[in-house]
Amino acid sequence: MKRMTSDQRAEAQRKAAAASKLAKDPAKLMEAMGLQQSGEDRRRIFNRLVDMPKTMRRLFCRAYLGRSMRAAVKAHCLMCVGYDRKEVSLCSSPECPLYPYRPVF
Ligand code: SF4
Repeated sequence: MKRMTSDQRAEAQRKAAAASKLAKDPAKLMEAMGLQQSGEDRRRIFNRLVDMPKTMRRLFCRAYLGRSMRAAVKAHCLMCVGYDRKEVSLCSSPECPLYPYRPVF
């Protein structure tokens, strides 16, 4: 695995800090990530983002953008178990169609 230079590390830390700051405000995050929904859809997505842990908001935005099936499955499983990563790993519902695809956190 390639090691990061100190400049790359500093840039990654700067981006992580900016993303973390952005995740605190769901409206700004939606705008920054390019979510184009309007009206009722936008209101429902915004409310969902407000109700979840800040650390999961970017994942959900990726899912809402429709560009990542993996993000969508992760987001759905997290929603299913009340946003507790550990519970997804412990899921005991083999009858769920997503069971074989559930993420291991
Ligand atoms: S696999 Fe388990 S955690 Fe994921 S959606 Fe299905 S029941 Fe919920």
